[in-house]
Amino acid sequence: MIQLFMPLNFLGFVYREIKGSMASIEKMFELLAVTPKVSDVENATELVLSKGRISFNDVSFYYAKERPILKNVSFSIEPGQKVAVVGASGAGKSTLVKLLFRFYDPSTGSISIDGQDIHSVSQLSLRKAIGIVPQDTVLFNDSIFENVRYGRPEASDAEVSEAIRMAYLENFINELPQGADTIVGERGLKLSGGEKQRVAIARAILKRPPIMVFDEATSSLDSRSEQSILAAIREIATDHTSLVIAHRLSTIVDADKIVVLDHGKIVEQGSHQQLLADNGRYAQLWQVQQQQREIAVLPT
Ligand code: ATP
Repeated sequence: MIQLFMPLNFLGFVYREIKGSMASIEKMFELLAVTPKVSDVENATELVLSKGRISFNDVSFYYAKERPILKNVSFSIEPGQKVAVVGASGAGKSTLVKLLFRFYDPSTGSISIDGQDIHSVSQLSLRKAIGIVPQDTVLFNDSIFENVRYGRPEASDAEVSEAIRMAYLENFINELPQGADTIVGERGLKLSGGEKQRVAIARAILKRPPIMVFDEATSSLDSRSEQSILAAIREIATDHTSLVIAHRLSTIVDADKIVVLDHGKIVEQGSHQQLLADNGRYAQLWQVQQQQREIAVLPT
């Protein structure tokens, strides 16, 4: 019983925390997913964003010393670019995101945004600048409309409706018994993985942070959901510097750059076309996924 009570109690705490303090969605992500391991340095400065250039500079990282996770990772995301990171499960993709949010510090190397080492800026200013669409979105026991509004609690109704439209949630909402007033979450309607991700996208659109991180869900989506999500990512990626952690390569063929991670090391980087022409690790991953797609559409 206690095992059941504890998580529910914790979720209740998180819910009150968010509602009470009108905290951002990243706060929720932080509370649920990771216990912060780092604190602000003395005299931490505020992150000053100009264009949103991100740079990983020779970053190595381990959770436990005997097991290195990232090894000398260097790549940059130019302002307004969409960069995707791909690689097998366990390659270290989500760890890159955790480092960018400064849930951990690199063991060696650094990460900078617009020339400022994120180690020296306040975590609050860092997380304000970055919006995330996490793998698994937490929905509160509230209407779908209010769930979207969590992205920016002070947003007007018109702005929330616009975000819903841009995240391709409208058709889905129109099919619900009470439309956008339908209660979702723990005690309400359960949403599929793809629908939940679109709620997260709508929240991110509402927040409009200069930098967007999209951590694609690992679960498979039907192709309609996938297409909607793809279109919604394109909406967000416009005018934003975006980092996409991708499991389905079909969602990132239009990325400006694709970084291929293998056991924590970058083994290739380039555009989809370049990497296919190189016929290396990415081309292999692409072939495997194409075959899986073909098998999935074969008539039974
Ligand atoms: P996936 O595609 O399955 O999401 P990934 O490429 O995102 O995988 P990471 O989640 O970054 O991989 O994990 C990289 C490695 O680090 C894995 O071997 C994982 O077990 C390990 N790892 C992740 N989080 C922790 C942690 N908090 N403590 C210890 N090891 C961890």
